[in-house]
Amino acid sequence: MAVHARLRAAVDADPYIELRPHTTVRSVGQDAHSAWVITSDDQTFRGDVVIGADGHRSVVRGSVSPEKPDATFAGYLIWLGLADESALASSRHWPRDVDIFSAGDDYLLGYPLPGSDGSVAPGSRQIGWAWYDASHNDLLREKGSVVGNVVRHALTSADIPEATFRKLATKAKDLWPAPWCDAILDCIKRRAVLGTPIAEYVPDRLVNGRLALVGDAAHVPTPMTGSGFSASLYDAEAVAESVAAGVRGSTVAQALGGYERKRLSSVRGMVQSGQQFSRSFTGRAA
Ligand SMILES: Cc1cc2nc3c(=O)[nH]c(=O)nc-3n(C[C@H](O)[C@H](O)[C@H](O)COP(=O)(O)OP(=O)(O)OC[C@H]3O[C@@H](n4cnc5c(N)ncnc54)[C@H](O)[C@@H]3O)c2cc1C
Repeated sequence: MAVHARLRAAVDADPYIELRPHTTVRSVGQDAHSAWVITSDDQTFRGDVVIGADGHRSVVRGSVSPEKPDATFAGYLIWLGLADESALASSRHWPRDVDIFSAGDDYLLGYPLPGSDGSVAPGSRQIGWAWYDASHNDLLREKGSVVGNVVRHALTSADIPEATFRKLATKAKDLWPAPWCDAILDCIKRRAVLGTPIAEYVPDRLVNGRLALVGDAAHVPTPMTGSGFSASLYDAEAVAESVAAGVRGSTVAQALGGYERKRLSSVRGMVQSGQQFSRSFTGRAA
């Protein structure tokens, strides 16, 4: 929320940015003179370039890398939840930092957070948790969350069978210490759990002519790298620098080419390093 509010304030302060909420891009195109997007309500927007920042299921990627348009399923999901400190019996032992645990075939990341109002006062903080689990791939396929090798959507609480909630609760008590276990049990009790199938994408290119990709549209690392968000910001910065340099002489395509040269090798390395974790994790759980 804090990041969103600050980005929103930056957008509001810039007269050159026009936000069009609830607008879905259906396709993109380009010719020698311009690039454009066509929205699901058949509007066309043209510009010098189109920068696809449309996440791991990017529509723009299909026009930048038509031979490799989809991020692929990494073979596991992450159960996610967020609990209020006031709901937890064990809040006396409040964690100071991120904790990582490995038990059985699973991993757990737990992280203390400020309360929803930003408060860090004892009693009003929150705990987030992310539980890596490779044993529910059948459920992901049954619910259409993963189709073939492509991630379509997360499992919401409505998708998760009661028996799965019960199994997760029993397993959490076996595997994870307080206060993380208490946070998980609280989320399970409230049915406030999301099951996110993890996708990965190693890019071969970031640019095609006047079209470019940034963020998860360009590269999808496992969250275990902890790098996806910051890499997205570095991309945006590099695009801005390259386009600004392009204004001083080169063509649009040359300017975007500068962005690709700056970023491609490092973002490929980021995703590949995460793939080593994913392979060992799914191999160990197999
Ligand atoms: C469980 C999980 C935990 C993570 N933890 C971390 C972490 O600890 N550290 C870290 O650095 N990264 C983490 N990440 C990765 C991080 O969240 C992403 O790298 C980051 O959100 C990418 O930002 P983005 O703007 O490129 O994509 P997104 O955040 O996915 O945003 C894409 C936007 O495009 C919109 N969109 C999509 N398609 C269209 C369309 N056709 N038309 C119009 N709009 C569209 C979407 O609605 C969305 O608003 C995690 C990811 C997951 C799944």
